[in-house]
Amino acid sequence: MRLAEIIELRPVPAAGLLATLTRRCPLSCAHCSTSSGPRGEDTPAEALRRFVGGFTPGDRPEVLMLTGGEPLLRPALVGDLSSLAASAGTRTSVLSGMFFATDGRIPARIMRALRYVSHFSASIDVFHEREVPRAASFRAVHRIMESGIGVSFHVVGNAADDPYLADITASIRAEFRDRAAVLVNHVRPVGRAAAWAAAREVPLDGAGGPPAPCAMAAWPVVAFDGTVTACCNQRVVDTRPMPEHLRLGHIAVDGWTRIRRRCQESPLLRTIRTAGVGSCANCRALAGRPAALEAAARAGSRPAAGAMDALGARLQRDAGAVALLRRYGSEPYAPLVLLGGPEDEVSPA
Ligand code: SF4
Repeated sequence: MRLAEIIELRPVPAAGLLATLTRRCPLSCAHCSTSSGPRGEDTPAEALRRFVGGFTPGDRPEVLMLTGGEPLLRPALVGDLSSLAASAGTRTSVLSGMFFATDGRIPARIMRALRYVSHFSASIDVFHEREVPRAASFRAVHRIMESGIGVSFHVVGNAADDPYLADITASIRAEFRDRAAVLVNHVRPVGRAAAWAAAREVPLDGAGGPPAPCAMAAWPVVAFDGTVTACCNQRVVDTRPMPEHLRLGHIAVDGWTRIRRRCQESPLLRTIRTAGVGSCANCRALAGRPAALEAAARAGSRPAAGAMDALGARLQRDAGAVALLRRYGSEPYAPLVLLGGPEDEVSPA
């Protein structure tokens, strides 16, 4: 599975499920967006297995994305979830910091965990490279690619003109001869990076400007404690109590069908996806503004709201992965998401 296929589905309500397996991570990257560390919490395994085991061929997400923390600290769970998902027709993607590959080799337990995985994304940036050398990461990703799994790199830099981004993207392209896609982002002031990146511009959280539709309110996200939210903003995922208007349920008591329906049919989420509510800060603040919350929900209850939501998702999907990443990723590097497939003809960033 190619990265571009996954990104194209991102604006489609309930086309994917993002599942956090743990907040533990053996690495200590200064920019970590999830504030993960050696002693984070693990998401309840049995509840996760039950939840993913509830997918059916007729009612399932297209993609299950496993993330953390470091999801491969729980290799047996990655193997179980991807196997359960595959039996219903859902493809699994794993995002890893490659902690296991410091010498370029991949332990057998990790390769076993990837048996039913369709896409593997390796995080790489200036902080990861201090802990896992670039050559070791590349060697391990080659091995994964040779096993038939689609691969990509998730790269983070300070800004579009960060020389590190030019260097690492050129290095990946040369090493993998454009057979590995690259997703480039800028450091956001959340999690561990908050202390030193707070002054940087964060488009989704910026105040002012016209409200913009939010494509990030489309996939349910399972947080480390099993709570399911409609939003992948780390502040929402981590805040307890979670803003009620962005909460979809909990994997201990809600199955996929119920979560999917809430995600697709919530009038408020329809408004957030089709019209927007101004910024992430405004969106979160709706929890304390009942009149604004009610007005947004009313707008999403109009008879045409469902059709508008579906049309918006289709248009964004048709516009493709590059268009989405021009908005949410590092704009000049967006075309690199197409690498690794038949559309390899991209202009170098
Ligand atoms: S906080 Fe609201 S606007 Fe921001 S990503 Fe989440 S759902 Fe979208």
